[in-house]
Amino acid sequence: MSYQKKSVADAALGNKKVLLRCDLNVPLEDGNITDDTRITASLPTIRFILEKGASIVLCSHLGRPKGQVKPELSLKPVAERLSAHLNMRVKMADDVIGECADSLVSSLKPGEIVLLENLRFHKEEEANDSDFSKKLASYADLYVSDAFGTVHRAHASTVGVAKYLPAYCGFLIDAELKALNAALDNPRRPLVAILGGAKIADKLGVIGNLIEKVDHLLIGGGMTYTFIKALGGKIGTSLVDDTKISYVLDMIKKAKERNVNLVLPVDLLCAAEFSADSPPVLCDAYHIPDDMMALDIGQKTIDIYTDIIKKAGTVIWNGPVGVFEFPAFSLGTRAIAYAMAECDGFTVIGGGDSVAAVHQYGIQDKIDHNATGGGATLEYMEGKELPGIACLLDQ
Ligand code: AMP
Repeated sequence: MSYQKKSVADAALGNKKVLLRCDLNVPLEDGNITDDTRITASLPTIRFILEKGASIVLCSHLGRPKGQVKPELSLKPVAERLSAHLNMRVKMADDVIGECADSLVSSLKPGEIVLLENLRFHKEEEANDSDFSKKLASYADLYVSDAFGTVHRAHASTVGVAKYLPAYCGFLIDAELKALNAALDNPRRPLVAILGGAKIADKLGVIGNLIEKVDHLLIGGGMTYTFIKALGGKIGTSLVDDTKISYVLDMIKKAKERNVNLVLPVDLLCAAEFSADSPPVLCDAYHIPDDMMALDIGQKTIDIYTDIIKKAGTVIWNGPVGVFEFPAFSLGTRAIAYAMAECDGFTVIGGGDSVAAVHQYGIQDKIDHNATGGGATLEYMEGKELPGIACLLDQ
């Protein structure tokens, strides 16, 4: 799936009203924003639209109110923070499609911005209701989508509105698409993928799709032991999904047929319990003692994996290769992160926990692209259509 979509930079914006969907779903504690990364990430698109002489009807979801008005999930604190960043007043509507929104939107002047209330206060948002979409669309002349984190969901504000308005992507989505396209559809080779994380069941689609594209597929994390068991190894009490043994064998066969270097750990750091204090014991990957579980890759495996990563033309990484939250079992994940930082090729971190790991080590600036939407990135890596991207205008 390779998307070439029109960006907000291609749109005629002067004197227009723009319905802008951002991901302003910030963490809140007692009504205070504890991390405003998502707000600051949205600023370039907001500023660009305002500078071009358009006005903005801004909308987002916040948390999971499930179609009910929950005052603690109001976007009001976001309007205040946005006002501070933009050094101008962001008007806050008390509703999404009611009287207050109607009147604020109709009195909007070029260069002004109004923020609608939490879209998910209406059950029609997640149901992609057409009347709700039509009403939202009636507020504007064109639509700009910049909420990459929600493009895998067909909601009224991510897909429905695009039926009624010319639809463009904002700078965040544009950057995500360029990076993911470059990594998976037109990569400099060798293309290396590292897959980790907790459960193999979550990553089946990704394994199946990546095996069609990559030159090397390095396996780590909780899915490792289903592979090792399938190959006849002893995995002790490590995580395993016995229902996926035949899938895994299929993938191993497919990798051979396609000449893909599917690499599994040769050694593992194990523990008697799933606990930060359990002392690490180095084991051969195929001979884990009956009363032990593997929680990280071992040094020999680190050497093999980092050597492949450093020589890559393109690397994409999803999921920690060990329980990196426990310092004694974070060495593998840390080594992968640093090898990516050292790699001269194009490097992409695709997904939640690996992005968190790279931030923990403070080397995010040494990675070419840190994907922002966990679920959306994963679905892209699975080769699935992203409805919130598919509905935008083609270039
Ligand atoms: P995911 O959301 O699928 O990327 O999974 C991330 C989680 O996988 C992290 O919280 C890690 O602690 C966990 N994880 C990684 N390796 C292992 C392992 N060997 N055993 C259990 N959990 C693991």
